[in-house]
Amino acid sequence: MQDYFGRSITYLRLSVTNRCNLRCRYCMPDGGAGKLAHARLLTADEIEQVALAAVRVGICKLRLTGGEPTLRPDLLEIVRRLSNIPGIEELVMTTNGVRLAKLAAPLREAGLRRVNIHLDSLNGAHIKALSGSDCLERVWEGILAAEQVGLSPIKLNVVVVHGYNETDVVEMAQLTLQRPWHVRFIELMPLGKPAQFALEHYVANQETRARIERAWGPLVAEQEAGTDRDTYRYRLAGGKGSLEFISPISHAYCHRCNHIRVTADGRIRLCLLQDEEWDLRPRLRADDPVDALADLFSRAIQCKPYGSMLAQGIFPTSRPMAGIGG
Ligand code: SAM
Ligand code: SF4
Repeated sequence: MQDYFGRSITYLRLSVTNRCNLRCRYCMPDGGAGKLAHARLLTADEIEQVALAAVRVGICKLRLTGGEPTLRPDLLEIVRRLSNIPGIEELVMTTNGVRLAKLAAPLREAGLRRVNIHLDSLNGAHIKALSGSDCLERVWEGILAAEQVGLSPIKLNVVVVHGYNETDVVEMAQLTLQRPWHVRFIELMPLGKPAQFALEHYVANQETRARIERAWGPLVAEQEAGTDRDTYRYRLAGGKGSLEFISPISHAYCHRCNHIRVTADGRIRLCLLQDEEWDLRPRLRADDPVDALADLFSRAIQCKPYGSMLAQGIFPTSRPMAGIGG
């Protein structure tokens, strides 16, 4: 269905936990995102009802996210249920990859189609400085496992952080020379407690692109990458994979935003960068919860704000990125 601004809302990002096994400095506040009591997390049953309702209002793409979704003990069950819902054309997941080596095959079997894997650098020390963990090797094994079982094309998310990994983008881009992977460079966004860190370490994607072009020559533009943002795919000359620049700060794509989010504790979040949320939990207790939830989705979508208030100096403060899911 369309929102007030005529945007077709077809894509739901569904967080299944706000917990994480990493501590990325721009995402997770010191001390974590706040543990949601187990009883406050949507159950697998409830997640299924939410997805069924979302399909009724026109959602056809579903992305599982976190925190770190692979920490959820019943993740395979959730994937199995969601993959059986008629109308969901794309079921994908965003993960830090740390637990993917073992999980890739069962996830694929359960019905997951693709993964975006978060990898900020190929330098283990830089990964440790950013995420607090020596996890590079495990993530790399996870990426290879995902590719091997057909969770592809592999997409890698690289958040570019001044003073940490801004020069590593050259090596990340180089990966696409040999491998058919999509490497996506993401600008830092200020959310929750880590907002100050994000503001202080922001790197505009124009700078990232220029750095890559200085090393590898002019990028070749490909077809438009998606309908939800003004972004094009590029290739290095002779490259097998592609590059994308996700620039929510320097080139906001709100006019083409096609998604909404549901947090792990059951709130519809209409804009990543605005704190307004609609609680869907009371609707889960209705006689026909799917009907009641679809009604709530439809009302909420009508109220989706046009975009962020960052230009007015208003930052989202209620949750860190780990509590929403990206
Ligand atoms: N744990 C998973 C992961 O890291 O991919 C899924 C959740 S994480 C919040 C989703 C994505 O958000 C990550 O790929 C990361 O690149 C991105 N992210 C986290 N904090 C961010 C920030 N402050 N600005 C921009 N992107 C951010
Ligand atoms: Fe965890 Fe992902 Fe946030 Fe890093 S970006 S702290 S891996 S939720």
